[in-house]
Formats: sequence, structure tokens, C-alpha cells
Amino acid sequence: MKKNDIFLIGIILMIAVVSFIIINATKQDGDKVVIKVDGKFYKELPLNVDTTLVIETANGGTNTLVIENGHADVIDATCPDKICVDQKHIENNGETIICLPNKVLIEVQSGNENPIDSIAN
Ligand SMILES: [Zn+2]
Repeated sequence: MKKNDIFLIGIILMIAVVSFIIINATKQDGDKVVIKVDGKFYKELPLNVDTTLVIETANGGTNTLVIENGHADVIDATCPDKICVDQKHIENNGETIICLPNKVLIEVQSGNENPIDSIAN
């Protein structure tokens, strides 16, 4: 009887610890930026790490992407219209920066999808 109680407490504790680990792991899996060039996957970067990436496009051009303070922005590009540079920075799930001449698509994707958010958008 007593042995069973200890066993049960052990299992409950284990479940608690495992859930805690899972919840924390999910939290750390935050927002990310997915970059596509010419319709193909190019690179994926976390939004919480400041970095600069020069995206090399299929037509020999480049788009310079900066990730800073949790948002992503194109600061320079070889395209003639510079619409991607003029676009404001993106940080929320589903927001995109598109460079049509260079065929570059930069999209924010959430690590933990929230269906209610998707409906609200
Ligand atoms: Zn552009």
C-alpha cells in the first residue's frame, strides 16, 4: 500500500517535470523568420537573435535583411524599385516583406500557432 503511494507520487512528479520541460521548450520555440527565394526555402532565422543576413537571389541580386529587437527589416537591396526596403519592419505572425524583382519572400511565422489569432487576422 505505502509502496504504491510512493510509486504514484513518483509518477505524478515525473509528469509534472515533463510538462514543465515541454511548456518551457515550447516557449523558447518563439517567432521565426522564414526566407524564400524564387519560391524555394532559403533560410530560417529566429526573431529573438539580432543578426544581419545578405540574401543572394536567383538573378544575382541581394537583399540585406536585419533582425533587431525582435523584428525583421530589409535595409538594402539591388532591386530597381526598392519597395522591399521601403516596407516597414515585420514582427507579427503572418507579416511579410516581398521583393518582386528579386523574387524574395520574408515571412514571420509563430513557433506556437494560435488558431484564434489566425481567425482574428
Ligand atoms: Zn526589392
